[in-house]
Amino acid sequence: MVLVFAESPRGQIKKTAFEAVTYGKKVADQLGTSCVAVVLGTNAANAGELGKYGASKVLQVADAALNDFDSQTYTAVLADVAKQQGAKVVVLCHTSTGKAIAGRLSVRLGAGLVSGVNSLPETGTFSVRKSVFSGKAIVDYSIKSDVKIVSLMGNAVRPDASGSPVSIENISVSVPAGRIRVKSVKTQEGTVPLPEAEIVVSAGRGMKEPTNWGIVEDLANTLGATTACSRPVADSGWRPHHEHVGQTGIAIRPNLYIAIGISGAIQHLAGVNNSKVIVVINKDAEAPFFKAADYGVVGDLFEVVPRLTEAIKKFKAAH
Ligand SMILES: Cc1cc2nc3c(=O)[nH]c(=O)nc-3n(C[C@H](O)[C@H](O)[C@H](O)COP(=O)(O)OP(=O)(O)OC[C@H]3O[C@@H](n4cnc5c(N)ncnc54)[C@H](O)[C@@H]3O)c2cc1C
Repeated sequence: MVLVFAESPRGQIKKTAFEAVTYGKKVADQLGTSCVAVVLGTNAANAGELGKYGASKVLQVADAALNDFDSQTYTAVLADVAKQQGAKVVVLCHTSTGKAIAGRLSVRLGAGLVSGVNSLPETGTFSVRKSVFSGKAIVDYSIKSDVKIVSLMGNAVRPDASGSPVSIENISVSVPAGRIRVKSVKTQEGTVPLPEAEIVVSAGRGMKEPTNWGIVEDLANTLGATTACSRPVADSGWRPHHEHVGQTGIAIRPNLYIAIGISGAIQHLAGVNNSKVIVVINKDAEAPFFKAADYGVVGDLFEVVPRLTEAIKKFKAAH
């Protein structure tokens, strides 16, 4: 059986969890087995929706102690669920939660782990692919252990909701007392978090000053995109640090990455070059970013960006 841990912070199933279940179902089909999802905590009202994405069952450990994330407790519970259910493959999301659990779970289950995979396993060898060295190389790993764990990169799989919802089954697993207590959680509201965003509009030092960001936000709002920035922009306090993408920032993999006034230094590219489509707007035709771009506009961003936003608005109004 393929067990997928479906993250549901504050009771909301994450988009990456729908992707992980879609992936888990494909792996289960390859192995001729079923895909089962598990949610932790008491609030997971829409967990039955995971059935649409391929889970034949949704299990819930409905203990209030699991409503806040604690990697030690979560790992202990997930290990017990995996053993109880006889899971041969465990799929996690490659999120901060998944990353915190993966290594611990691998030790508890004696399982081989490949984190951050972006391909289905090859039938027979269970060989999975991931990119390494900031996207400069691709490695295929074969997992040899009886129980296997993978964590799946965000946006590596398009969620497929062609199935039907299933009912949620409560299961009993002992929940160990946590050694830490979550006192408060502050979440960023309003926008899709960068690792989950399908469209990202990002800007760099070419913006000249923080008060110019209105045109970037307009474009992002028009596209339903999340905003990002280069490191010097965050370091100068022009934009919040959680928007900083790159080698020392967040690594993302959106379907569309629009880079405005960013030169395309290797450290920036390291975090964004796995994007499916890259559009670069820069006034310098020699900017290194153009080498990584699928589409490029050589021009002054202060002219190009508002015109692009207008064109998209017109297109949307007409369709
Ligand atoms: C160890 C290390 C780690 C790093 N990690 C990161 C990281 O994670 N992320 C990151 O981003 N950087 C990182 N950096 C910094 C990186 O090397 C670059 O310095 C940085 O990415 C440059 O940011 P930028 O492209 O915004 O600015 P610049 O390099 O100054 O580029 C600005 C660009 O805007 C263009 N431009 C200017 N005016 C206009 C206009 N009117 N219209 C159109 N285009 C215009 C220019 O042609 C230029 O290409 C790291 C550096 C080091 C040493």
